[in-house]
Amino acid sequence: MQLQLFEIPKVEPTDFIPRFASANPLDPNNVDQVIEMLLEDGEMLFGKRVDPAPYSFDGIYFSSNVPIMKYREEEQKIVFRLSSDARNDNSKIVWQLAHECVHLLTPARLWTSMFEEGLACWFQMRWAKLCPQLFPEHKCNPEKCFANKRFLEAYTIVEELLKQDPDAIKKLRSLQPVISKFTPKLLVTELPQIDVPTAKLLCSRFAQKQRD
Ligand SMILES: [Zn+2]
Repeated sequence: MQLQLFEIPKVEPTDFIPRFASANPLDPNNVDQVIEMLLEDGEMLFGKRVDPAPYSFDGIYFSSNVPIMKYREEEQKIVFRLSSDARNDNSKIVWQLAHECVHLLTPARLWTSMFEEGLACWFQMRWAKLCPQLFPEHKCNPEKCFANKRFLEAYTIVEELLKQDPDAIKKLRSLQPVISKFTPKLLVTELPQIDVPTAKLLCSRFAQKQRD
């Protein structure tokens, strides 16, 4: 008997992710797939992910009210802590995963810069726009969804930058793969539209007690 090969249709993230988000209860295996899809999308836009070795990614858990990418030093694992109120809100899970996936793409270990946080917010907005069925209208309004003014400020600068030069991140990461290690000098050299004060602001440590 001749073996028949069927072409398996590729699942589009913009189909899969809303479907995932409407499933209840949440399937943890699908969470991994969503993370992988978000990372692949991030790589397409911003360049290859940085290998976090000796750390490895070990999934998500829910606790507290502030999402964060955590390094577990002893086990050498990276985990996403999502907020407790996201546990039963799959749209919120997607929203928070989109942000943390940018941190996973470019792990910096010590702290994150305004630039990296702004890009993480920009990527959240991208997915809110790609899956409008998942998000209440306010998710498409940065003023409303980034209640913390520091995130809004970081988002606004990165948004403007990417509007002018969609390949800016790829360009910069080909020279320095870790976004939080970008220097003002790198920015003003590679992106002529950026002035020195903005470059310094983007490369400064994101001032928040806890990283989001
Ligand atoms: Zn963050």
